[in-house]
Amino acid sequence: MTQLAEPAGSATTSLAAIGHWIGGRAVAGTSGRRGPVFNPATGTQEKWVDFASTEELGSAVAAAAAAFPGWRATSLSKRTDIMFRIRNLVDQHRNELAALLTAEHGKVPSDALGELARGIENLEFACGIPQLLKGGFSEQVSTGVDVYQIRQPLGVVAGITPFNFPAMVPMWMFANAIATGNTFILKPSEKDPSASLLLAQLLRDAGLPDGVFNVVQGDKVAVDAILDHPDIAAVSFVGSTPIAKYIYETGTRNGKRVQALGGAKNHMLVLPDADVNMAADAAVSAGFGSAGERCMAIATVVAVGSVHDPLVDAIKARLPKVKIGPGSDPTAEMGPLVTKQHRDKVASYLDSAAAQGATIVADGREHPLYAGSEGFFLGTSLIDDVQPEMDCYRDEIFGPVLTMMRVDTYEEALRLVNDNPYGNGTAIFTRDGGAARQFQFDVNVGMVGVNVPIPVPVAYYSFGGWKSSLFGDLHMYGPDGIQFYTRSKVVTSRWPDPATSSVDLGFPRTR
Ligand code: NAD
Repeated sequence: MTQLAEPAGSATTSLAAIGHWIGGRAVAGTSGRRGPVFNPATGTQEKWVDFASTEELGSAVAAAAAAFPGWRATSLSKRTDIMFRIRNLVDQHRNELAALLTAEHGKVPSDALGELARGIENLEFACGIPQLLKGGFSEQVSTGVDVYQIRQPLGVVAGITPFNFPAMVPMWMFANAIATGNTFILKPSEKDPSASLLLAQLLRDAGLPDGVFNVVQGDKVAVDAILDHPDIAAVSFVGSTPIAKYIYETGTRNGKRVQALGGAKNHMLVLPDADVNMAADAAVSAGFGSAGERCMAIATVVAVGSVHDPLVDAIKARLPKVKIGPGSDPTAEMGPLVTKQHRDKVASYLDSAAAQGATIVADGREHPLYAGSEGFFLGTSLIDDVQPEMDCYRDEIFGPVLTMMRVDTYEEALRLVNDNPYGNGTAIFTRDGGAARQFQFDVNVGMVGVNVPIPVPVAYYSFGGWKSSLFGDLHMYGPDGIQFYTRSKVVTSRWPDPATSSVDLGFPRTR
């Protein structure tokens, strides 16, 4: 992670600094540490972001802890009203939020608006919180005895989010966290931090009490302070697998409830009976949308049998038509990558793949914006004849590079997916319902698409992978989200007639 000392007399001295949001107001950083925020389409640094110290994180926890008793005691009806207002305000400010995503992440406006649409669905789900928190009630479990279950909030909870969805992933977390009565601290990615502050303002304007939602910007120092703070009850994380594992191990060792979603390597199986054009459209859309910087992007296409050659041709034919450019160009379909360092790492897989014997069908470095722009652009790349031991298959590339593998049978294709350490998403393309159903039964992956290349569950299901794509038990948002942010209490209750009371040292029986 970057921590830059500001060069004396540098042109960046006068740039605006993005600070924190603590106790219902914007707060400038005081640690003296900060990192650069770039516009990926121009390659220029446009802002700084303050990096919180352990003490600054502590003041956010203090604000959240102070707000908790009042917020958890706020009636469900009032909390619902505030959730509806939040939903409406975020909806009204979609374009403003999308512009911030384009400016700092680089995704084109249509993609940024898609991110917001899926995020807002989580706010809408949380508007149903009275229904979601209904517990069970059993009357007369013994004579005059009733049992019921209630779900209560945990207290102060924190969310640590990745660069690739600066608005949606925070909404995955805070919508259910605050609706269930917790107070929340968000630690956004330091690469695109501004959307978090606009969200904070909208939440305040919607009537959310001060301290219920806080934002602490920063790097590993802020993350470690979250993991160590005794007053933080739970941590939700989304990011790369090594950090997810670290968050899970450290957080749980410190007694916290943790859900940590990690990286991915999503396979798209194409069976010989599939419609080749439809499969090629899906592979290009899901491989190159958001420049491949999605944890549900298709990373590798596994072509079974005779479909391989026509599918490679069909994908290759589509690549020159993908319009690459800055978000300011209304015709652009794919923007730059998030940083130069990341762009160069992604491009390096083309060299290692060629050296390890793969075939480079399309090389994104040949796109004019790669060399001809200061922005972090890379064109679309297609690598064929990929083998499981190659770096371009083993690593999560997280960029606009689609790899292709050729296998003879469905069983071989399934083995590839199930042997892979990641298990986030997968898709099968076929016209055979029986084959699709068998795949859904066999595959060790958390989210499966049948002729759907990016099977991100809707907000009333839950999102999460298996294996190295998730550390923890509960998936994110939806019903699992409600469960994650609450703990259950079971009450056994009797209102006896005092005249029937007596001493009985036996273990309580129901019959
Ligand atoms: P990242 O792991 O580098 O960063 C995620 C968060 O962790 C950021 O807030 C960052 O500041 C923090 N962080 C980074 N390094 C840290 C360290 N050493 N110690 C403590 N905290 C640290 O991930 P990223 O590059 O921002 O996002 C891309 C990754 O996220 C990809 O691997 C992608 O697959 C994954 N992702 C997964 C999902 C999912 O739902 N499974 C969704 C989106 C992104």
